[in-house]
Amino acid sequence: MRLIDGKGIAQGIRTSIKESIASLKIRPGLAAILVGKNEASKVYVRNKRKACEEAGIYSEEHALPEETSETDLLLLIEKLNQAPAIHGILVQLPLPKGLNERRILDAVAPEKDIDGFHYMNVGKLVANENGFYPCTPLGVIALLKETGVAIAGAHAVVVGRSNIVGKPVALLLLHENATVTLCHSKTKGLAQICRQADILVAAIGKAKFVTADMVKEGAVVIDVGINRLEDGKLVGDVDFESVAEKTFAITPVPGGVGPMTIAMLLANTLQSAVAVATDHKE
Ligand code: NDP
Repeated sequence: MRLIDGKGIAQGIRTSIKESIASLKIRPGLAAILVGKNEASKVYVRNKRKACEEAGIYSEEHALPEETSETDLLLLIEKLNQAPAIHGILVQLPLPKGLNERRILDAVAPEKDIDGFHYMNVGKLVANENGFYPCTPLGVIALLKETGVAIAGAHAVVVGRSNIVGKPVALLLLHENATVTLCHSKTKGLAQICRQADILVAAIGKAKFVTADMVKEGAVVIDVGINRLEDGKLVGDVDFESVAEKTFAITPVPGGVGPMTIAMLLANTLQSAVAVATDHKE
């Protein structure tokens, strides 16, 4: 069994992003918008800003009160859409109730939508055209490639069909020429389907849900889940202890997919700034 070192791989990507930024004529900039008091969101935004600073990306945070109106939020997004120093805009989810998430995500200029949540970028992902794709799914693919896993022709089973993880992971795997099965809570015979997977991706949100009897000998297992147990311990959606020994390679939690999400956010911000720098040259 090989442990896929997401932390180390992410660090390597961040170092090469930092080097690319150092040789870029413009400084990439990212604006993070945080509405309300969600403690987990605050931590995520803080970590993202810290990672930006380390990589040489300018970052600014817009922390807005819980009762912010949709009009005010849309005005801020429009201002950031126009700001030349900002190449990436992220609206931290979840938004407080009363704000229309779809309208707000679609207000971000598609060319600054480094989370890949705008309809235009969703469409580009479906059509397999260049655009911004969601960061966690990009991280999953990067981990597989870094580990030297042959994706083309493999049977990939993705458990979970959310718009931010499961569905885009399935599409990216399809574009890499895997044969993809996408499972969810209504799937019949889940264990049997999972056992057929050469690559098994778990994005469910249930601690230790995937057990050894659901995994084929020699499979590659990518655990996207982040679940906090009552004792405070972080665990994935895969029962690592029992599953790991059956696998060819597996990601740990923490230290697997998690660190890749931020690395991919930096990569998308760099990609956006490079596009602007290239436009200026032409
Ligand atoms: P969602 O709750 O949005 O989606 C969960 C999915 O799992 C749904 O499609 C649901 O099916 C499916 N599911 C739930 N129960 C079962 C079951 N018993 N059998 C089969 N499928 C089931 O979660 P997210 O996609 O947002 O996140 C998934 C996990 O990934 C979470 O633990 C989250 O914390 C983590 N995460 C990690 C990130 C990282 O950076 N590492 C980033 C984002 C998320 P249905 O659609 O039928 O309800």
